[in-house]
Amino acid sequence: MDYANLIRQKVNTGSKKEEKLLQQLLVSLSDYMPSSEIKIVVRAYEYGAKAHINQRRLSGEPYICHPLSVAQILANMQMDNQTISAALLHDVVEDTDINLIDLENIFNKEIAILVDSVSKLDQIKFNNRAEAQAETFRKMILAMVEDIRVIFIKLSDRLHNMRTLEHLPVQKRKLKAKETLDIYAPIANRLGINKIKNELEDLGIQHLFPYRYRVISKALKKSKGGQKRIVKKISSRILAAMTNENIKGEVIGREKQLYSIYKKMKIKKRSLEEVADVYGFRIIVNDVNNCYRLLGIIHGLYKPMPGRFKDYIAIPRINGYQSLHTTLFGPNGLPLEIQIRTIEMNRLAESGVAAHWQYKAVDKNTAVPHLRIRQW
Ligand code: MN
Repeated sequence: MDYANLIRQKVNTGSKKEEKLLQQLLVSLSDYMPSSEIKIVVRAYEYGAKAHINQRRLSGEPYICHPLSVAQILANMQMDNQTISAALLHDVVEDTDINLIDLENIFNKEIAILVDSVSKLDQIKFNNRAEAQAETFRKMILAMVEDIRVIFIKLSDRLHNMRTLEHLPVQKRKLKAKETLDIYAPIANRLGINKIKNELEDLGIQHLFPYRYRVISKALKKSKGGQKRIVKKISSRILAAMTNENIKGEVIGREKQLYSIYKKMKIKKRSLEEVADVYGFRIIVNDVNNCYRLLGIIHGLYKPMPGRFKDYIAIPRINGYQSLHTTLFGPNGLPLEIQIRTIEMNRLAESGVAAHWQYKAVDKNTAVPHLRIRQW
């Protein structure tokens, strides 16, 4: 069924941008959500759009474009209909006359509570810049929230605000960027939601230290250009060895995270060249057994660096991350960092605890949000 078409006829959106966002959202949802639940989301959209009707973002767009974008980030993680609906309504209580009881009557208690919890999180203000304070603040946020989906919404909200940060005055921009690096990126990291963590960090440093950002990203582009041939050579060598041993999988050249380069330079006092000139690969295979087999094969291709092997499969990181890590002496003696993991581990590495909430993984009758968050 073509939901996008169905909805377009039904909903008269306010602007082209809004319509595009709505369509995109509905296409994403129809990939994994039954139509009965999509209807709830559409109702949340219509309601939210009406509530924000006379408001605009600083960018000039209708306000509802923001909740729509937040919902899209969550739909990309295949979150359930309540999370998506709450995302569409997340600023309604804060910014309009609508209250919690209205939401409960129109939708349901769960959606109302999600919206309310996101609004409450917004009310605690982070003022102190001290590192110790940031830690306390992060703990406070996690302790306050009973349902982990609230954190997903909050992180997605922050991510979209960071994506559109250029519309704020410089001073505010810096404040938000600092807060993002101190509070929100570490929370995303703690929950293993790498995709969001990486983007938050990248946007954070971009706005907090624009000059450093430009220098590092220029150096990265340069080293990437020079490395292309070697990267190709290394990956075809690994692939050939895999074919030989009948291991099926994918070899991906790994993009370096700008923020992690910045941190390494700052903490380990290394030069930009030292940190940037590293080859990174991720190899994804179908089962755990092949992870270990492949490790042995790769250690035969390139000499491993002593003390750099980590078995996060046998001993996962605290956020659940699993992978084999090793560093090798690559061509020209440059370090070659390899991660080996299964498809499932890769999914978890990208979405972390959110992976447990992804639609297919949730058994509606047994999913108990407040019990789940206790584990975190
Ligand atoms: Mn918001």
